[in-house]
Amino acid sequence: MTGGESWGGASWGGAMKGGARLFEKSCKILRSILVAPGLAVALGFGAGQAQTILPDPLAGVEEAMGSQAGLDAWVQGFRSRALEAGVSPATFDAAMRGVEFNPKVVERDRNQNEFSKTIWDYLDTAVSEDRVALGLKAIERNRALLERVEAEYGVEGEVLAAIWGLESAYGTYRGDLPVLGSLATLAYEGRRGAFFEAELIAALQIVEGGHVERLSGSWAGASGHTQFMPSSWQKFAVDFDGDGKRNLWGDDPADALASTANYLRHWGWTKGQPWGVEVTLPEGFDHDQTTERVVKPVAEWQAMGVRTVSGADLPDHGPGSILLPGGHRGAAFLIWPNFQVIEKYNTADAYVVAIGSLSDRLAGRAGIQSGWPRELRALTLEERRELQDRLGRAGFDPGGVDGRMGPKTVAAVKAFQKARGLVPDGYPSLEVLGLLR
Ligand code: CA
Repeated sequence: MTGGESWGGASWGGAMKGGARLFEKSCKILRSILVAPGLAVALGFGAGQAQTILPDPLAGVEEAMGSQAGLDAWVQGFRSRALEAGVSPATFDAAMRGVEFNPKVVERDRNQNEFSKTIWDYLDTAVSEDRVALGLKAIERNRALLERVEAEYGVEGEVLAAIWGLESAYGTYRGDLPVLGSLATLAYEGRRGAFFEAELIAALQIVEGGHVERLSGSWAGASGHTQFMPSSWQKFAVDFDGDGKRNLWGDDPADALASTANYLRHWGWTKGQPWGVEVTLPEGFDHDQTTERVVKPVAEWQAMGVRTVSGADLPDHGPGSILLPGGHRGAAFLIWPNFQVIEKYNTADAYVVAIGSLSDRLAGRAGIQSGWPRELRALTLEERRELQDRLGRAGFDPGGVDGRMGPKTVAAVKAFQKARGLVPDGYPSLEVLGLLR
């Protein structure tokens, strides 16, 4: 979760890339289960509602569904499954008593794909001067802690601070929604039921262990200083201050920052390797090469004429890729595998570039130098789907019509641009949409 913000269809923040995959699966399973009216009733829905519980995930706002009574009935059915998973009856009954149905959580969950922002609009907020200034103060206050975490986990303090800064404005906005209520609502509501039920069980185990007094967080159940989902807490949270609790929620950020470092280390963080550097591409550069799928030794990029944005030779941190997150008229980056490690927090390029750029600023390095094509606006969800539909009909397989500009869609845009003699940067612009008739 990016500090109360959502990003163009890939806003599964808070250490939940795996969850998004699981969620695809759980959608299918639930779709098959819930068409049986008897079962839907057993799960606490009216039979008539069963058909609307699982709309097309991108169909936009559906009529309000679910109710407090429905949730209460669902909780009764859920109790045996939670107990089977090791939650004690006493914990379950105390924690789940009075859990409230929250229609706003459902609404937000449904609408997140509709949200569209360009990378430059996102970066304006994510790496604002305010966030940089607050971050420098936060680092100053926590310098000794960050140094100890860096020494133990091999993740630079400024990177941890950048994640902390984006996820909760350095602990200022940790979310005050009751996590159990949010997760129960989403598990009951069903669109990603299996995924959220597993998260709810993990959350109950946090309560069971007495790790925190009151578990509150943001809308989708991510919580604490660095917005961990409960399942990420289970796997990666550490007790860094040694008080016996793995507490990501209290005023002291020690456990949260160390847990985040532990998470990044687990996914292969390499200390000393930048996330990326801003570069310039030479005249006539083959834009087919600008994708994470093309990985080359730095010497090859150098030989092709790529330089840092200040004109210097490229620093060699091993094989990397060239990324143009705002198309060929925006900033270009040479990225290294640490970029993919940050993607484990949130897969959106804009998120990763924001973390990288904020960490650079917090370390006293320069921010992004190049401009962006600010006159372009982001495609709406409807336009993104239209783009995919037209690409498919023109013979360029976009990998589905879901509004997500994933690798297959980007590759299809590139192929179309190439066929039409345009710069094949893969950027889904209005121009490309207009040319696809
Ligand atoms: Ca602790």
